[in-house]
Amino acid sequence: MVKQTIQIFARVKPTVRKQQQGIYSIDEDEKLTPSLEIILPRDLADGFVNNKRESYRFKFQRIFDQNEKQETIFENIAKPVAESVLAGYNGTIFAYGQTGSGKTFTITGGAERYSDRGIIPRTLSYIFEQLQKDSSKIYTTHISYLEIYNECGYDLLDPRHEASSLEDLPKVTILEDPDQNIHLKNLSLHLATTEEEALNLLFLGDTNRMIAETPMNQASTRSHCIFTIHLSSKEPGSATVRQAKLHLVDLAGSERVAKTGVGGQLLTEAKYINLSLHYLEQVIIALSEKHRSHIPYRNSMMTSVLRDSLGGNCMTTMIATLSLEKRNIDESISTCRFAQRVALIKNEAVLNEEIDPRLMIIRLQKEIQELKDELAIVTGEQRTEALTEAELLQLEKRITSFLEDQDPESKLEVGADMRKIHHCFHYLKKLLNDKKIHGTSIASSEIKDQNSQEPLKEEEYKKLRDILQQRDNEINILVTMLKKEKKKAQDALHVSSMDRSELRRSQSSPFPPGNPEGPRMLPPSAPTQAPDSSTSQYRSSLLHGKTGMKEEMSFGRQEAFEIFKRDHADSVTIEDSKQILKQRFSEAKALGENINEARIKIGRLKEEITQRHVQQVAQGISESTPVPSTPDLLEEKLRSQLQEEKRRYKAMFTHLKALKVEIEHLQLLMDKAKVKLQKEFEACWAEEATSLQVNSPAVNSLNHMKPFPQTPESQHERSQLLSSKSDVYARKILPSPGPLLHSQEQSSPSTPLEDRIPERPVSSVPLTGDSRTDSDILAFIKARQSILQRTG
Ligand code: ADP
Ligand code: MG
Repeated sequence: MVKQTIQIFARVKPTVRKQQQGIYSIDEDEKLTPSLEIILPRDLADGFVNNKRESYRFKFQRIFDQNEKQETIFENIAKPVAESVLAGYNGTIFAYGQTGSGKTFTITGGAERYSDRGIIPRTLSYIFEQLQKDSSKIYTTHISYLEIYNECGYDLLDPRHEASSLEDLPKVTILEDPDQNIHLKNLSLHLATTEEEALNLLFLGDTNRMIAETPMNQASTRSHCIFTIHLSSKEPGSATVRQAKLHLVDLAGSERVAKTGVGGQLLTEAKYINLSLHYLEQVIIALSEKHRSHIPYRNSMMTSVLRDSLGGNCMTTMIATLSLEKRNIDESISTCRFAQRVALIKNEAVLNEEIDPRLMIIRLQKEIQELKDELAIVTGEQRTEALTEAELLQLEKRITSFLEDQDPESKLEVGADMRKIHHCFHYLKKLLNDKKIHGTSIASSEIKDQNSQEPLKEEEYKKLRDILQQRDNEINILVTMLKKEKKKAQDALHVSSMDRSELRRSQSSPFPPGNPEGPRMLPPSAPTQAPDSSTSQYRSSLLHGKTGMKEEMSFGRQEAFEIFKRDHADSVTIEDSKQILKQRFSEAKALGENINEARIKIGRLKEEITQRHVQQVAQGISESTPVPSTPDLLEEKLRSQLQEEKRRYKAMFTHLKALKVEIEHLQLLMDKAKVKLQKEFEACWAEEATSLQVNSPAVNSLNHMKPFPQTPESQHERSQLLSSKSDVYARKILPSPGPLLHSQEQSSPSTPLEDRIPERPVSSVPLTGDSRTDSDILAFIKARQSILQRTG
């Protein structure tokens, strides 16, 4: 058992403006517990809840200032917890702080750079690395991802649901067994055998969460997210199973109601959040007071779920995220105060070892059999009654597994029962004979086959030859047709899809096909597969399932989406990621080539060494002198070259492995950004389309006969649209202007739109693209306008 208080760390988010310095200072001098001093600016101090104190001092295990990297945070905070989880203890890391203080950045990571990945991906990486290193145990890893919003639990990984809102996800409920253990009903556990699989689950959950969120319900700041890694381990042959859980928790923003209070729905949410965090505080206060017998865990879902993490069987760590800007001072102080109380809580972590009853039964059965056998030897009694069917079957099974066992040391234990020993020999003899007969029968049937082919008649030959010729012709025709079709399709390909396919092409396997030395030379987890095979297929189907929008978009809508994308701030991020990804791919490709070269070189060196050996032996025989015992210089040189080459190969492989993880991560980030973009587009599209329908009821009844709405606003919009740079878009989605308009457009591109568009129903004007999309297009014109206004 390990007794420990909850560890508290502070992390200060980088401030935008430099002049915010002087608001706090970190005192590292005090050797064991550094402290953070928050200095209240004078103007604030006067009005600050009648409190004239000018500075507050809080102690933390360690304080990470603005410039500390994610790597440092992981090494110092998460790695020790991950280690204890690997040893079989429960662990929890939770981030607490106001919205925008960096909780999500710390727990999950930033969306832009690979180096920004947070505690979850780094911990997964670390845990899987350790599991691969330790071959003495059998490990199983499961992942679950729970979101608690308004006191309800939602399974973010539920595969059955296409979540369009949080409420679509199945509700997770709490069950308590007679031993007062908490069980979560409806929370799915997903087996993850590799880091990639686990990472995919994280991104799936995040994507689900993002899709479920609407601008009206910014659930992400008001909900708690608990990502849990369930690890179980067992030594081979042992019935004892160790089970440990690691909760990585991104809490809701800790800001007070007064700040969020806007009324209506928002207020209810804020209240709930406060309620939830309020209960958390109550539990923490109760725990930090000595001799309190009742701890109000049951008041809220979150405290019930985290019950073990708070004052129970768990090693718990808290990260107080602070945004130390002037306007956030009060929130920062309350975050620090909360942390100080948390630091008083003592946890008692125990090893979670359990005996698996099934394994225990098997072990006991074996023991009984062994004892029976021993007894038979001691009493010298030989049993004579025939073996039962079941006994025979069991015996044969044992023989089969003995024969299959690759271990040269394995034994076939049947005890001192002569009946069994005899049966073993019989059975083995039978197997051997069967094999022989089977072997010869295959050979003879082949011969027979050949013979039977001989008497084919000349006539039949001719017939077959004719058919063959006919088929050949057919194939030729088909190939020509196919080529033509392919060319047509290629010509028609849209620019955007070219873009995409280019990326996909550049992604196709830069990794070397194998390794020269088999598993011996591989680092334990070397990639043997190109990254875009199974996992990314899984990922793309996963994300396509989530979005599935673009493939079914009408032409006009796709067009609109392209424009939306171009104007959206996130597309810069996506483009950047794309560039980095391309770069990484070419790096990986080059590395793959180098690895292949090294592999060939290793093979050659080995060959040379063998040849050298053969030469020496031959020489020794021909000159009838013994092989010289002094080391052969040339061979030494070859060997050292070989060692060097192997070292190089290994280093490159490790690098390639790291690159693979990075590429996988970047792809997931990019996919996530794309989903977000598409989601925002869809929302905007839907919103504008409905508002358009509401605004002009005539449009509804006429459907295809939609004129442009002639409000001054809309005229302005259209002129803006045309005068903006998206000419291609305008040309494609606006009613085809006809030859006259074309020449006007060319001669005076700045002519206001209303002068150029004829006042007539859209339906009477031929549309480029799909005529069903005109209403979409109209809606989009508005949508785009409002986006431009919103994003400034
Ligand atoms: P929270 O989850 O607490 O609401 P976020 O993690 O979403 O806050 O952070 C808000 C913004 O600040 C994000 O854009 C995030 O990328 C950025 N951010 C937070 N912490 C850091 C940090 N340590 N370094 C750089 N950017 C940060
Ligand atoms: Mg957040």
